[in-house]
Amino acid sequence: MATTHNLGFPRIGARRELKHALESFWQGSLTEKELRTEGASLRRRNWAIQAGLDLAPIGDFSFYDQVLDMSVTLGNIPERAGLAEVSDLDRYFRVARGRSANDDDGCAIHAGEMTKWFDTNYHYIVPEFHSDTGFSLNSERLMEQIQEAREQGLTPKPVLIGPVTYLWLGKSKDSSTDKLSLLDRLLPVYAALLDRIAAAGVEWVQVDEPVLVTDLDADWRHALNLAYHDLKTCTPKLLVTTYFGDLRENLQLACELPVAGLHLDAISAPEEVARVVDWLPPHKTLSLGIIDGRNIWRTDLNRTLDWLEQVHDRLGDRLWLAPSCSLLHVPVDVDIEHKLDADIKSWLAFAVQKLDELDILARALNTGRASVHRQLTENARLIRSRQVSGRAHSPAVTDALSNLDGHTGARQAPYRERIDAQRRQTVLPAYPTTTIGSFPQTEEIRLARQQFRTGNLTEAAYVARIREEIAYCVNQQEELGLDVLVHGEPERNDMVEYFGEQLNGYAFSQFGWVQSYGSRCVKPPILFGDISRPKAMTVDWIRYAQSLTERPLKGMLTGPVTMLNWSFVRDDQPRKDTALQLALAIRGEVLDLEKAGVKIIQIDEAALREGLPLRQADRASYLDWAVNAFRVAANGVRDETQIHTHMCYSEFNDIIEAIARMDADVITIETSRSDMELLDAFRGFEYPNELGPGVYDIHSPNIPKKQEMVALMQKAAERIPSTRLWVNPDCGLKTRRWEEVVPALRAMVQAARELRQAI
Ligand code: GLN
Ligand code: ZN
Repeated sequence: MATTHNLGFPRIGARRELKHALESFWQGSLTEKELRTEGASLRRRNWAIQAGLDLAPIGDFSFYDQVLDMSVTLGNIPERAGLAEVSDLDRYFRVARGRSANDDDGCAIHAGEMTKWFDTNYHYIVPEFHSDTGFSLNSERLMEQIQEAREQGLTPKPVLIGPVTYLWLGKSKDSSTDKLSLLDRLLPVYAALLDRIAAAGVEWVQVDEPVLVTDLDADWRHALNLAYHDLKTCTPKLLVTTYFGDLRENLQLACELPVAGLHLDAISAPEEVARVVDWLPPHKTLSLGIIDGRNIWRTDLNRTLDWLEQVHDRLGDRLWLAPSCSLLHVPVDVDIEHKLDADIKSWLAFAVQKLDELDILARALNTGRASVHRQLTENARLIRSRQVSGRAHSPAVTDALSNLDGHTGARQAPYRERIDAQRRQTVLPAYPTTTIGSFPQTEEIRLARQQFRTGNLTEAAYVARIREEIAYCVNQQEELGLDVLVHGEPERNDMVEYFGEQLNGYAFSQFGWVQSYGSRCVKPPILFGDISRPKAMTVDWIRYAQSLTERPLKGMLTGPVTMLNWSFVRDDQPRKDTALQLALAIRGEVLDLEKAGVKIIQIDEAALREGLPLRQADRASYLDWAVNAFRVAANGVRDETQIHTHMCYSEFNDIIEAIARMDADVITIETSRSDMELLDAFRGFEYPNELGPGVYDIHSPNIPKKQEMVALMQKAAERIPSTRLWVNPDCGLKTRRWEEVVPALRAMVQAARELRQAI
């Protein structure tokens, strides 16, 4: 009999109940008790959905972040979060969110650093380590939840982040501390925790060690061996879970760890299943992640059974079945979607549906395919309908793609030549000033959009409203004296959704929320089919904006790689092909803008870096196709048309060469928090094109001072010739208020003027 289990369930709630409860609590309109009650009720509902599983995850529920929860369990909370006088929950949120000096006792506490959870869009709170970091057990939360799950009639399987992954995820705050040196102190606390769990009568514990799918050096590999040899004497059986990739050179290590079971992500490592089956010692359980926990497509159950039955024949009771990773990364329930096109909806499976699929697969293995004949036939029908659907496949797109050649992505002349043509066409001062695109998205704009969507505002009235906003924005920029203006993006709800809504091949859910961090969620668009652009998407707005000013106005688009990385994408063709389809659609828009007389076009690639594979060995090929997609989108223009790109991060060392290959005339980046030091990457590489290092942090409400910005640009000019520098904020201004934006940009323009005088 194959056993079923789940690695984790989305905790935010099908209708984002947790988000709403948290935000009310933070505002003071919900008490701690009420928040805890809401948490318990969400857990109860989530377990009810998982009641058919042989083992249900517990401890995967979190009020903010599962890594922070683990830090609490291990007694590793930064001292600044305060001592005994605040409640545990307050202390927890202090680490998660920080607090400002305005709060009651007047002392500010900075939040824990946040970073991406492996290659997902989920962000965790980074554990902090010092040379004197000690650990102490705090098992209350887990013990309570074991109890709760039992009362609901489930067999609980606590979920822990494994000791080695826990260290790997954290950061030493004093450079002298080697994280691995803390393992000795950490293991006794894990052992005590496991003992306590055993005392509660729990048989299996899930210990997540996704570091096993990353490049590990000898010390980290050794740490894994050491840790699990040390924990070997603990009573509960340990299931070490790996996900998000293949094990490669860590495969043997993973198979041989002295634990009772191993979970392998068979969606991202299908080719390793056979090897793991061969390597795994005969007393061990193998859990296979056979349902995609990161994407939203219905599983082809019959095809899965074709290979899974053979594994089951070999392993029998030793085989466990699960989704590939925690379902945290997918929305909760597709059944509550009422606006999605019926065909597309029938191709999707969110968390609830994925567990149904798991159940069907287990029954097919345990009691024969005939026992689930109806479900398997229905699944085959839906899989087929997606494969042959005219909605998803367009011969014209296939054709367009096959016409691409090596020249499609190349500019006519190299940068050194075309820059002269650009400077003749658009005369700009030294240190030209510009912004990244968006201006404040005010409450009124959002309201107008909402009224338009619900039919309470006519299209004509909505367009008039947006035009009014554009006019205001252009006017403000002229008054501020900026050199290259933007229209301000008031018509955009989101930089991907806005374009996705106008392209064929994209669909949108109503409730397809996925937690990004804390109470924040994103609703990634669903890229289900071949991408094409029925008509121009931005030209009217940009042309209108340009008609209002003599100054050059920059057209604003989202790039293909960012569109891809921020969407749920189809799984029936390589990502690279989807990226190219997006690139062709954007290319069409770029050429339409050029035809409309737009001389400067920015193509944002905010998420290019995010797509980097976990393994070093896979990075070059990703960067190749990602850069190629950008080039195809951007580089069809004439020499005199200036292409800008923008990237929202500040690490370029390892991708600088790829950035250079994009060949954008100007790149604006986030630098203000790194004191321009990151420009060393560009200097070392002798980056040839123009660069706009962000001179102030738009995430902060502080108004930057002119002198600070002058000083930053002087540092930049030590690294990059001043003739190739632009002056701009480090990202878009949509989250700020006009009262903040105007003085900040005024100071920025004055800084640029001062810099020019010094030339
Ligand atoms: N043009 C977009 C804006 O200004 C870019 C946003 C981003 O890079 N995240 O908002
Ligand atoms: Zn940005």
